[in-house]
Amino acid sequence: MKRTLETKPQLVQISAAWNSRVGAPLGRNQYVELEIKKPKANGTSTKLPANQKPCEKMAEAIVMDGGKRGQLVKVCADPACRVHHPNTPSPQQVERERAEERKRIEKEKLAITTRHRILATILQRVSAPLKKADLLAVAHYLIGHLSYSQVPTLAKRHKVEAKKDSASAQELLAKQVGAYDESELCKLLLEISLLDSAYQRSTASSNDVLMDAAKRYRVDAEKLQKAVAVEIAATRNKKTKVKTKLEGRTTAA
Ligand SMILES: [Zn+2]
Repeated sequence: MKRTLETKPQLVQISAAWNSRVGAPLGRNQYVELEIKKPKANGTSTKLPANQKPCEKMAEAIVMDGGKRGQLVKVCADPACRVHHPNTPSPQQVERERAEERKRIEKEKLAITTRHRILATILQRVSAPLKKADLLAVAHYLIGHLSYSQVPTLAKRHKVEAKKDSASAQELLAKQVGAYDESELCKLLLEISLLDSAYQRSTASSNDVLMDAAKRYRVDAEKLQKAVAVEIAATRNKKTKVKTKLEGRTTAA
C-alpha cells in the first residue's frame, strides 16, 4: 500500500469509517464511491444510479482501512458535484441560510427584549391599590391557571354551569367576572387563593392560609364552629324525627 502511494501520490486516501478527523483519510460522509462500468454497446446508460455515473471531479482513491484496505477505487469527493452530492447545499445557499437565521435570531431578541422593557415600565407605573382593569387581568390569569379540581369548585360557587357543546367552565367564568366591579374582583382573587385551603378537610398543615386570613379579618373560628355544630345537629334531629315518623307509620300499617 505504501508503494502504491509512493508511485501514485495523487491518490485520494479514503476510510471505511463514516466520519473522520481533519487530515485523516476521508470518511464515507465526504465521498461517494463510484462503480463505473463500461458503457454498453447499445448505449443504455441514461438511467444509471448516481454512483455508476462518472463526473468531472471523479478521482482515483485508495482505501486506507477496513476489509478493502489497499484497494484502488473511483470516488467523487467534491461536495459541489450535482451528480453525486445533490443534497449538499451550495456555499452561497449555506451563507444565505446563515444570514437569514442570524436575522431571525436578532428579530426575536429585539422583540423579547422590548417586551421585557415594556413589563419593567408597567411595573414602574403601577400603584396600590390595583385599578379595576388590573384586578380583572389578575383574575383572568388565575382563572386560566386553575387546577383541574378547582375549576368545578369555583364554577359552582359562582353559579356558572358549562353545558354540553358550550364554552368550558373556565371560559364562562372568565366571561362572567368581566362584569364584576372592583370589590367583587378583590373578593374573587382572595377566594381563589383560599380555595384549596377552604376545601381541604384536614387542617393539620402548618401554613393554613385560610386560618391566617381568618385572623386578619377577625373571624372567630371557634364561635363559627359551635354554630355549625348546632346547625348540623338540628338537621340530623329533623331527619331522625321524619325517619321515626315514617317508620311509625309503616309499623302501624
Ligand atoms: Zn461527482
